[in-house]
Amino acid sequence: MKIIDGKEIANQIKEEIKKDVAALIDADKKAPHLAAVLVGEDPASQTYVNSKEKACKRIGMTSSVYRLPEATTEEELLETVDFLNKDEEVDGFIVQLPLPQHIDEDKVIQRINPAKDVDGFHPVNLGRMMLGQPAFLPATPHGIMQLLERSDIDTEGKHCVVLGRSNIVGTPVSVLMSRKAKPGNATVTLCHSRTNNLEEVIKTADILIAAIGKQEFVKADMVKENAVVIDVGIHRVEDQSRKKGYRLTGDVDFEEVSKKASAITPVPGGVGPMTIAMLLLNTYKASQNEIY
Ligand code: NAP
Repeated sequence: MKIIDGKEIANQIKEEIKKDVAALIDADKKAPHLAAVLVGEDPASQTYVNSKEKACKRIGMTSSVYRLPEATTEEELLETVDFLNKDEEVDGFIVQLPLPQHIDEDKVIQRINPAKDVDGFHPVNLGRMMLGQPAFLPATPHGIMQLLERSDIDTEGKHCVVLGRSNIVGTPVSVLMSRKAKPGNATVTLCHSRTNNLEEVIKTADILIAAIGKQEFVKADMVKENAVVIDVGIHRVEDQSRKKGYRLTGDVDFEEVSKKASAITPVPGGVGPMTIAMLLLNTYKASQNEIY
């Protein structure tokens, strides 16, 4: 059984981008700049934005954070988006989700210039992805594809079962896995809460991508012998034996399933570290006008 080491692969990708950024600076060009907009005080969102800032710094990119109060109106947030769309210093930006309930997320995402939409959530980028055209791909699905590619996992002709149809993970990864590309060319089944005989469907997977948001939902008896298992889930479980008072687990029962899988991503250290690496990659591409 092979552990797909997302931390290691993410570090490789960040090193590659760091070299590319250093080459830009050596050539007297500007370092790529990522901006983030954070509305409100949600602690998880603050942590994510801080890690994105630190990651930029480590690879030589510049970054800025626009911290707006919880009471920011939709109109004020749209004005910030307009400002960032125009600011030539900013190559790409993200609006950290979730937004406070009084703001329409779709409206905000649609206001972002697709050429600066490094989260890949704008309908234009998602549409281009669907059509196999150059696009900013959403970070987590893109990270999963990179994990498969860089771990030499053959996806062609395989049956891939995706558990969960969210707009940020399940649905886009199902599209990428079925695209005429490498990795891709898989036969994909997308499962959700209305799927009949879910366990039987999961058992037919050569490649299982679990993004269901249910702690350790996937058990060994649901998984085919030698399946490749990608665990997207992240759950905090109280654990007083740990310094932080908790540990992280996924949507897959790693202990059991790792004995049956041919390759599996751990949690933590699997899909998670890839997400920021892919955001940095998109920012670099935005700075070089590689997509638009
Ligand atoms: P989400 O929006 O919570 O959606 C969950 C999906 O699973 C939905 O499509 C839902 O079906 C389906 N589902 C829920 N319970 C089910 C059941 N019992 N049987 C079958 N299907 C079921 O998911 P998400 O945002 O994609 O997140 C999934 C997990 O990934 C979470 O643990 C999240 O924290 C984690 N995540 C990790 C990363 C990372 O960087 N590693 C990034 C994003 C998310 P319906 O559509 O029918 O409701």
